Amino acid sequence: MSRLIRGVSKNARFVLVDTKDIVQEALNIHKCSPTAISAFGRLLSASVMMGATLKGEDVLTLRTMTDGPLSTMVATINKDGVKGYVSNPEADLPAKENGQPDVQNLVGRGTLNVIKDLGLKEPYVGISTITSGEIAYDIAYYFVTSEQTPTVIALGVDLENETTVRSAGGYMIQLLPDAEESFIVELERKIGAIRSVSELFRGGMNLESMLHLLYDDMNDENPETLIENYEILEEKEIKYNCNCDREKFYRGVITLGKTQLEEILEEKGEVEAECHFCGKRYSFKREDLGEVL
Ligand SMILES: [Zn+2]
Repeated sequence: MSRLIRGVSKNARFVLVDTKDIVQEALNIHKCSPTAISAFGRLLSASVMMGATLKGEDVLTLRTMTDGPLSTMVATINKDGVKGYVSNPEADLPAKENGQPDVQNLVGRGTLNVIKDLGLKEPYVGISTITSGEIAYDIAYYFVTSEQTPTVIALGVDLENETTVRSAGGYMIQLLPDAEESFIVELERKIGAIRSVSELFRGGMNLESMLHLLYDDMNDENPETLIENYEILEEKEIKYNCNCDREKFYRGVITLGKTQLEEILEEKGEVEAECHFCGKRYSFKREDLGEVL
């Protein structure tokens, strides 16, 4: 089960996630290339952090539309879990010189949509530019430009091999309104000094120790001091979860109309629909479609 912790300090709020199981499930379902799962896993992890406080029927969706080989990615989360899909999961690129997956070029440049359906009449749709393709930077950019919230975000997906995720997750720290300048300076210094999320996981860190590291003021003489005290408000488990069912696909299939359904039945003997998010297949025979034929 993947895990999330979130909380606050005087000047900021934070979320940290361990999404290894979610990204592993996404890899199993979508058969992504190593570079594609590195990109998709980052987007899924970001959506988990951004959806940390969703309640009831609230839904948050992140959609990237870019000019790289990956083309489109979608991650959507509600209180029951997160799910997503990639338009070209098999797209891949050679690793960069430093051995890291070339996520930036696989994603490319384009648009990020942040859609929040909070049960109001109209969902909120934030539109932002993807200028780096590296995902974490692009989401931080969204927060600064669309929500006027200075945000530090780091994401990492580390693979054991093509089919196994070693670790995945990240952290996000957002400044509260009127945050003190001194805290911002300390935080920036801190973020610049610590290793990547994947390296921290490899070093055996869990979310709590990562959080402590982020707030540690790195005072050699007095090793137990923090930039400021923090409080964990919530800890929860999250999973990859698709809520599709046969009824929903039935309603979709019948919109094809009598003529087209007859044609498909004639040719294939059944009408089949596949869920983008979980790969589950739903098959409808003539007798299932009696209502419209
Ligand atoms: Zn599904």
